Amino acid sequence: MSLINEQAIFLRQMCNLIDYAEQHYATTGGELERTQAQHDANVKAGRSKATRSRHMDRCAIDLHFYQLNDGKFIEVTDKARLQNLGNYWKSLDPKNRWGGDWKNPFDPWHFERGVV
Ligand SMILES: [Zn+2]
Repeated sequence: MSLINEQAIFLRQMCNLIDYAEQHYATTGGELERTQAQHDANVKAGRSKATRSRHMDRCAIDLHFYQLNDGKFIEVTDKARLQNLGNYWKSLDPKNRWGGDWKNPFDPWHFERGVV
């Protein structure tokens, strides 16, 4: 399967995840594509240990989830509350991985289509 095929499937499934997430949260988008220079800066700063990020292949995105609390949006980042989103993402495709399952770095914002 070509990288374009992988990217297209990833983005289509991301639409499904966002639709699912919006049943519970206001959902906003963070980084999708990452340049080599940004990846190098992340490794240097200790924010990434990956030799190659799936963001560099446009097969990963960081999403942010918010709930209203007394009229203010509060970002939800704890694993227990986001586990259903991670489970849903992984149920869409055996290649899908969720950064909330990782311990170092714990990355609940990160959803990717991995290489199998
Ligand atoms: Zn990410």
